[in-house]
Amino acid sequence: MLSCVFCKIIQGEIPAQKIYEDSFSLAFLDINPASKGHTLLIPKDHYELLSQMPENEYLAFMKTLQKVVKGLMKYTDGVNILQNNGKDAGQLVPHVHFHIIPRRPGDEIKIETWRTHHDPDLDKVQKVIQSLLKD
Ligand code: 5GP
Ligand code: ZN
Repeated sequence: MLSCVFCKIIQGEIPAQKIYEDSFSLAFLDINPASKGHTLLIPKDHYELLSQMPENEYLAFMKTLQKVVKGLMKYTDGVNILQNNGKDAGQLVPHVHFHIIPRRPGDEIKIETWRTHHDPDLDKVQKVIQSLLKD
């Protein structure tokens, strides 16, 4: 998709600090990192949502995710992997991407500390989501 900023990075129209590339995927540094080494991994083909990726591309992409994570786990001792899927989930760039965010002791990043709630409907929610997964 021509207007997509990540497609432009793939096509070399916008510069980026690339760190890994294979036939399906590209990893590069986020221009506004949450921490030093904050990496984005994208498929080279344009899909907005993870669910739109063909299975073969998705599987290859997941292999590459593990490879990039292994590398970053040598850079720091912990990383958060975050994938904002859909506008309601905070996805700003409509091209599938994983954030791999290196973590360090004492950093002020709050990804894992979301507020939790008691849900009296766990059994109902289970049934609804189970049935949605059947399609
Ligand atoms: P989202 O909220 O869609 O999950 O995150 C999009 C990410 O893409 C943001 O963290 C943002 O900093 C990054 N980003 C947006 N435009 C560019 C760009 O032109 N180059 C790079 N390297 N990162 C970008
Ligand atoms: Zn794109």
